[in-house]
Amino acid sequence: MKYMKKSFDGLLPYHSKLITDGIILNANESPILPPSKVIEEAKKEILNIEFNRYPDMDEEILDKAIAKKFGIKRENVTVGVGSDELLDVLFRAVLEKDDIVLGFMPSFSMYQVFSKLQNAKYIPVLGNEFNIFNVDDMISKIKEYNPKLVLICSPNNPTGQYFTKDEVIKIIESTNAMIALDLAYIDFAKEDYTTIALNYDNVISFRTFSKAMALPSIRVGYAISKKENIDMLDAIKAPYSVTTISQIIATIAINNFDLYKGQIKMIINERERLYKELINLKINAYKSEANFIYCIMDDKLNDALLKNKIYIRKFKSNIYRITVGSSYENDKLIEVLKNETK
Ligand code: PMP
Repeated sequence: MKYMKKSFDGLLPYHSKLITDGIILNANESPILPPSKVIEEAKKEILNIEFNRYPDMDEEILDKAIAKKFGIKRENVTVGVGSDELLDVLFRAVLEKDDIVLGFMPSFSMYQVFSKLQNAKYIPVLGNEFNIFNVDDMISKIKEYNPKLVLICSPNNPTGQYFTKDEVIKIIESTNAMIALDLAYIDFAKEDYTTIALNYDNVISFRTFSKAMALPSIRVGYAISKKENIDMLDAIKAPYSVTTISQIIATIAINNFDLYKGQIKMIINERERLYKELINLKINAYKSEANFIYCIMDDKLNDALLKNKIYIRKFKSNIYRITVGSSYENDKLIEVLKNETK
């Protein structure tokens, strides 16, 4: 670390091993490919790419397609290399040394990394003994700490808790801080309120093609907000970051969003089935509105899953997150857990 910043001591790369064999339920991915029409159109379009040219830096066609889906203006949209890039850009745009960031805990781990990169302080808002968060706790911490940035992840990764539109509005209206509304999993929840960001000067909604749209491979995320905020994100993010291939595939996917509805419904139904099965097995599973279920269970159950090449996410001893798989994959998971809890 001799040549690096002192404040970055101890920073480790975010690492998730690429697994190619077995049942993969560790990264909140979709168990199914995008609809075949999306894949077929993408294949055709890719043949027409002028590979010797840079991508469209303004991502005009993709921005317009996203704006159309939400019935908003193009000036209120920008895209990035996953929502990760845009979140990182926001932290850079908002935070100065020692500024306070407030977020529920546990939540998406990168929020703490992005805070640290800006030498800002991440103050966690904890849930009750069952890890259920209360928006009033967030509001009192806002009063106590006067943060620069507040994070709301709904449904929350990894606990799956969904905040209603009214709850989110209550937090927004309690502060002048910038609010990052991370809606990576909102397509699996009761109501999509992405566009509330346009009612306020200090709210940015973050969305991704990596989850319900089944396209983590192309790394595209987007932000929706008032023009001034979008312009700032665009000013800071790396030029040409979203590749031509990614822009083309994401455009086709969002233009065909209706074709995803069936597979999203399937994942929601499987989530409810899996939740019931886990509860029947006396596993402490959390009610979720995302495509994963957070649970507290004996490590020996995970050992049995690993032996059967079933991979779930372990946070620490006894704390796990299971991505909802296909019905076949969930059956296999349940079968192993049943055998082990007999
Ligand atoms: N937000 C949340 C809550 C996430 O769980 C993730 C990915 N796991 C992201 C943002 C980033 O997603 P991506 O960069 O693939 O859009």
